[in-house]
Amino acid sequence: MMDLHTHTVFSDGIGQIYDNIAEAERRMLKLIGISDHIHYFTPGRFSAYISQIERFKKESGITVLAGIEANILADGVDVDDATAERLDYVIASAHVWLEPGRADVYLELIKTALQDERVDVIGHFGNVFPYIGYPGEEELIEVIELAEANGKAFEISSRYKVPELDFVKSCIRRGVKLTLGSDAHMPKEVGRIGWSLKLFRKAGGKEEDLLFSELL
Ligand SMILES: [Zn+2]
Ligand SMILES: [Zn+2]
Repeated sequence: MMDLHTHTVFSDGIGQIYDNIAEAERRMLKLIGISDHIHYFTPGRFSAYISQIERFKKESGITVLAGIEANILADGVDVDDATAERLDYVIASAHVWLEPGRADVYLELIKTALQDERVDVIGHFGNVFPYIGYPGEEELIEVIELAEANGKAFEISSRYKVPELDFVKSCIRRGVKLTLGSDAHMPKEVGRIGWSLKLFRKAGGKEEDLLFSELL
């Protein structure tokens, strides 16, 4: 299985890149992605990050991918072309504070990211709904249609336990790819994707419904 959302000391995680990979190997994952928060990087640190990941790609017995977690801001996703080109995938997540009752504002942010060609995956979609309120079914379908049109994937997050089952079912029905992620900030959390996997299977997901299934 896969864990495409893990953090290290390159952002707010406490483990080294190799610690995360070692835990993934121990848990017999097939695929691990390192996806540190983009706003921690300087150009120099980003180069060190990429070169470390490249080294472990060669040394590890499992598949290692270089990712990043970018932020969806009011004026767009904070990843540029040069950064995206050096990565295997880009997760875009909305981390901004939102007013209760304004799920529409959140969905607009998500739609912006779905139309950004540098973005591959939407991170922990809907984790803010308990605070800002749940959108209607039609609004959610609109989001999924946009993902379908732009070839984007949604993460099933074991940390936040999102998205909802019906949302994942709709993704699968429309051929929108999914990823599984622990959002680990400690090496021991890497590979804790049990919740995601259970929901994915409950929704009827098969291996080919996952992004990077060709690497599994
Ligand atoms: Zn996040
Ligand atoms: Zn994260």
